[in-house]
Amino acid sequence: MEDCLFCKIIKGEIPSSKVYEDDMVYAFNDIDPQAPVHILIVPKEHIKSAGEINEDNSKYAARIFEAAAKIAKEKGFEDGFRIVSNCGDIAGQTVKHLHFHLLSGRDFTWPPG
Ligand code: 5GP
Ligand code: ZN
Repeated sequence: MEDCLFCKIIKGEIPSSKVYEDDMVYAFNDIDPQAPVHILIVPKEHIKSAGEINEDNSKYAARIFEAAAKIAKEKGFEDGFRIVSNCGDIAGQTVKHLHFHLLSGRDFTWPPG
């Protein structure tokens, strides 16, 4: 996807603060953090949103959750974090490349609003 911000970040065409990378996923710090820890985890394949996950690409979603647990343990916040994926305009998805927000370092309210 030529015009996709996160595809460009994955390719290194736009700089990012890398947290974790493997053959399937890339994780980097959010530019506008909403918590002391705010990491975005994205698949290296362009998938539009959580609404586009299917039996052919769900391996990326699985790997993202493995990466999240790994990052949480590595950084020492495995006892408390939130994972969020906004899907579509109604949920506030601004970048149309699947991403999971990994948040920690403060208390979170529920429901999220
Ligand atoms: P969404 O609103 O789609 O759920 O999340 C998009 C996220 O991407 C936002 O939290 C926003 O701060 C982050 N973001 C947007 N542009 C950039 C960028 O150029 N670099 C980084 N690191 N994060 C970005
Ligand atoms: Zn993309």
